[in-house]
Amino acid sequence: MSVLVVGSVALDSIETPHGQAMDVVGGSATHFSMAAAFFGGVRLVGVVGQDFPERHVRLLSERGVDLGGLVRQDGRSFRWHGRYSADMNSRETISVELNVFEDFQPQVPADWRDSRYVFLANGSPVTQASVLDQMEAPEFVLLDSMNLWIETQRSALLELLPRVDAVLLNDEEARLLTEEDNLVRAGREVLSLGPRLVILKKGEHGALVFGRDHELGVPVPAFPQEEVRDPTGAGDSFAGGLLASMARRGSVDLDAIKQGVVYGTILASFNVEDFGVNRVSRLSMDEIEDRRRRFLQAVHVAL
Ligand code: AMP
Repeated sequence: MSVLVVGSVALDSIETPHGQAMDVVGGSATHFSMAAAFFGGVRLVGVVGQDFPERHVRLLSERGVDLGGLVRQDGRSFRWHGRYSADMNSRETISVELNVFEDFQPQVPADWRDSRYVFLANGSPVTQASVLDQMEAPEFVLLDSMNLWIETQRSALLELLPRVDAVLLNDEEARLLTEEDNLVRAGREVLSLGPRLVILKKGEHGALVFGRDHELGVPVPAFPQEEVRDPTGAGDSFAGGLLASMARRGSVDLDAIKQGVVYGTILASFNVEDFGVNRVSRLSMDEIEDRRRRFLQAVHVAL
């Protein structure tokens, strides 16, 4: 079953204590799609400029990502430049050029409007709502957001939350949205804003998953990773593993969500091993399953 993603397709410049990579392929829809493609069909809606190298388009389509919704417009592609702190737990945005992404009005192709699993990747909540308006009857909608939108389009975001099934935020974003320092209270507060599932990401410390029956938050550790070279896109890879594994299973029940959170954790752990999409583009399903087994054993032992 195909998953639909709408979001940024970018040229990223990234600086970490391990080096730098300039103008590499990135964007939330890209990182999501590269991870999700391991589990089944992915339909990507996005926009790039004339400067976007054809080899990046080929990389995605060779992975089986359907690019029937990717438009190329006059102008430059979305560009993001970020720099990570020494421990890589925080990053500063050096520059963002929205370029063709600024006036992007996503059009979901008519024959994709029946998609049942939808990822509204990081973007303006007004644009995200316009995507939902085009969908017929999605079964599970996952939403990502960030500081920029929480600060500048808070009311549009609050209107959107009751229309989605799940929300993915990092700890800092959850605190900003709820004005609540304690993460358990913040998670519960986001839950009360409408979605039935809230996933709070805590970087190398894993995630807290809140649902109606889990108002305390279920802690899910991150895979203990020694090789962290570039965390960019970890959240989107997590979303890709989560949503696409649920779509493959054809279920949105608690077991599918739990399995999805584990796949999300594993895909994110591979993503951070190298810059941009380098690691995920040479990843195999055997490696994913092997790491998943080791992760489940470690979690089990820890209990
Ligand atoms: P993550 O590390 O999961 O938060 O995702 C990083 C990706 O988000 C990068 O590849 C960026 O190109 C992309 N990105 C950064 N800022 C924005 C933004 N304002 N809107 C959409 N995508 C963004």
